[in-house]
Amino acid sequence: MIISRQKDLQVLFEGLSPDDSFFVIGCGKCAKKLRVGGQKEVEEVFWRLVDRGFRAVGWYVISTACSINSWEEIASEKPEIDDATAFLVMACGNGVSVINRVSGMKAYPLLDTTSIGGVCDDYMLHEQCAACADCNIHLYHGICPYAQCPKGLQNGPCGGSIDGVCEIGSERSCVWAQIYEEAEKSENLEVFTEFHPPKDHSKKVRREGLIEKI
Ligand code: SF4
Ligand code: SF4
Repeated sequence: MIISRQKDLQVLFEGLSPDDSFFVIGCGKCAKKLRVGGQKEVEEVFWRLVDRGFRAVGWYVISTACSINSWEEIASEKPEIDDATAFLVMACGNGVSVINRVSGMKAYPLLDTTSIGGVCDDYMLHEQCAACADCNIHLYHGICPYAQCPKGLQNGPCGGSIDGVCEIGSERSCVWAQIYEEAEKSENLEVFTEFHPPKDHSKKVRREGLIEKI
């Protein structure tokens, strides 16, 4: 799941062109689950646009904004989408990018994407993964320091960890203290005695062209 939160719409609206015709798009997966881009939120934005005098031509919640079967399918369900000159997208940055690519039109993000995380019942897990392309989370008792330590330390903790709190601020616990707790529970402290080499960043390649047949 991609974790995101709503932007300050007041600020965003100030940057929109009054010449555009807007269509609001939500995402029926992560953004809906987090209550930042489902039908309720999408309709709210649509009516706020109308109230502010913008030309708002419609709205739609795509089942998964980052995984679209075909643009034609969406247009056949919502023909008014053809009147749009810009999209306001309530999905993660990935969804915004996909919509921009498949529609060939301007797509503004209404959410800020903060991390790859998860949810279980009503609890949200932030920063579970940073998509490093060289996964070794099993070494750290299921807690990824690359994603959760601000320094991404593979061998920690750093000298700034005090009483389980991260040096960057008291609102954030040191991930290495959490790893230590888990290591103690399983009576296996190897993660603190073995050296872990740096990530193999060559695995994180940016493919030319970016579009690949699957
Ligand atoms: S090691 Fe890399 S791929 Fe694995 S959870 Fe951490 S950031 Fe994600
Ligand atoms: S205090 Fe812990 S989490 Fe914070 S930067 Fe240092 S090792 Fe990373």
